[in-house]
Formats: sequence, C-alpha cells, structure tokens
Amino acid sequence: MNCLFCKIVTGEIPARKFYEDDQVVAFHDINPQAPVHFLVIPKKHIPTLNDLTEADKPLTGHILHTAQQLALEQGCAEGFRVVMNCNDLGGQTVHHIHMHVLGQRAMHWPPG
Ligand code: 5GP
Ligand code: ZN
Repeated sequence: MNCLFCKIVTGEIPARKFYEDDQVVAFHDINPQAPVHFLVIPKKHIPTLNDLTEADKPLTGHILHTAQQLALEQGCAEGFRVVMNCNDLGGQTVHHIHMHVLGQRAMHWPPG
C-alpha cells in the first residue's frame, strides 16, 4: 500500500514520533501551523472519516483521548484545537485519517 502515514507507522519514512502504543502513533507535523502541531493517527489504515465503521468506535475514542493527554504533556493545558479533515473538499491531503492538535498560540473561530 502506497500510503505516507502507513510508512510513518512502520518507520519506512522517518518522522518526529513522540508517542506510540498498540493502536496509535503521534508525531510532529512537518509543516507546523502553530508552535505545537502534532498528528495522532491510527496504525490501522482508514482512508477517510467516511470509511469509519461501528467497530472503529473504541479506536476513534482512543485517538481523541491520546490527543488530549499529549496536548497536556506538550504544554497546552491553557487551550488547544483538534482538527480532522475529511476528503478533498474538507481539506484532507493525506488519505489516512489523522487528528491535528494545535496549540500555544491564540486560536480564532472561524479560522481566517
Ligand atoms: P491534512 O491536510 O490531510 O489534514 O493534513 C496532512 C498533514 O500532514 C499536513 O499538516 C502536512 O503538513 C502533514 N504532512 C504531510 N507529509 C508529512 C510528512 O512526511 N511528515 C510529517 N511529519 N507530516 C507530514
Ligand atoms: Zn495508511
């Protein structure tokens, strides 16, 4: 499978990973949009949020819980943003689901 994030999971492509367990990996975004900007991804290849099934509910909960724990560890207790883009119209460029965590700068909504 020619998937960038699957290759980061296996280590075939290097990334600044800082957390890994049996289900997820977290690493710093290569093009950070905030002082803290990391991604939490499942080890399982799921192309888009549209491909989630009932069976993925524990995994998606684990992704969010991991994002929260790591945001606190990265010094974002004051506030942070999580973003998941779905498909081309939703701004998704890598088709392996991932949760962005952004922090340590003021976040505005709606984004500019
Ligand atoms: P998307 O636009 O799909 O929601 O987010 C993809 C994210 O992956 C982007 O923020 C982009 O900077 C990041 N990214 C793309 N390629 C790489 C890479 O090779 N390594 C890392 N660490 N991040 C990447
Ligand atoms: Zn993948």
